[in-house]
Amino acid sequence: MKLSELLKYKTPEDRLKLTKTSNCAECEIVLQEAITGCRETHKGYMCSDCYYDMMGEMAEEYPIGIPRMHRGA
Ligand SMILES: [Zn+2]
Repeated sequence: MKLSELLKYKTPEDRLKLTKTSNCAECEIVLQEAITGCRETHKGYMCSDCYYDMMGEMAEEYPIGIPRMHRGA
């Protein structure tokens, strides 16, 4: 981390944010990046399991296919 970035965290509260643990927005497990994974989503942080579950649901709703190329006239 650069010094300029460290200087942004002047108060103990600010520094706490750096080490603060988050909970999964879905299953509320305490997120530890190395163990549960930690994905930032529109819902908040999520563990990898919930993240991929959500992605799976989204993929079912909005199938991501290979974009069809329009043939030239
Ligand atoms: Zn989760």
